[in-house]
Amino acid sequence: MKKIQVISLFPEMFDGVFRTSMMWKAQKEGAVEFRCHNLRDYGIGPRQQVDDTPYGGGDGMLLKPEPLFAAVEAAKEYDPTAKVVLMTPRGARWKQATAQAWSESEVGYIFICGRYEGYDERIVSLVNEQVSVGDYVLTGGELPAMTIIDSIVRLLPGVLGGEASAEIESFSDGETLEFPQYTKPAEFRGMKVPDVLLSGHHAQIQKWRQEHSLKADS
Ligand code: SAM
Repeated sequence: MKKIQVISLFPEMFDGVFRTSMMWKAQKEGAVEFRCHNLRDYGIGPRQQVDDTPYGGGDGMLLKPEPLFAAVEAAKEYDPTAKVVLMTPRGARWKQATAQAWSESEVGYIFICGRYEGYDERIVSLVNEQVSVGDYVLTGGELPAMTIIDSIVRLLPGVLGGEASAEIESFSDGETLEFPQYTKPAEFRGMKVPDVLLSGHHAQIQKWRQEHSLKADS
């Protein structure tokens, strides 16, 4: 069973996602176990402080190292071989091939969700992978972590209903996007489903689909 843990100041953000659709099904079928750690629980002093001002000046606050180290150590107690993944716009761009590789690997993952202006750089000494979901800045690492976790979990064995569907999805061969698809009715508001898809001629359908698969940019 894949163990996936999250360290976040807002763990409640994951409730809906982990209780819905494939994420829920994956847990029910024993393919994955989720555990969320509230970073606030590891905060310092009576106010459970987790952030502080940056040395050298600058706007905003940074996540302090002590609570982050304590949270990662607690997560490692539960899963000692887990890899630690830091959500950061500086990280490697997330790709379908990485989702596939991580879904096939034996290890679990601990996702650290940053907040505010970022984190004390010393946390990087605990981290195995730094990952970005794209060249834009979000308010926190929770949405990136949800995106990445979803892309991994749906590929775990037995989670997707039609096993073949993952193999023909966009990016699954590293470069093409899925062909257009249609369902009933065959005509809707004057828009018709291409004749070839109604023909029942499998070779021609396959050819049409190949011709209508797009090349991805990167
Ligand atoms: N000051 C940082 C910078 O300029 O790179 C941005 C900090 S952002 C407001 C707060 C946190 O959100 C980050 O530490 C990171 O954990 C997360 N985050 C924001 N954008 C992200 C992205 N594109 N990919 C992954 N994580 C992201």
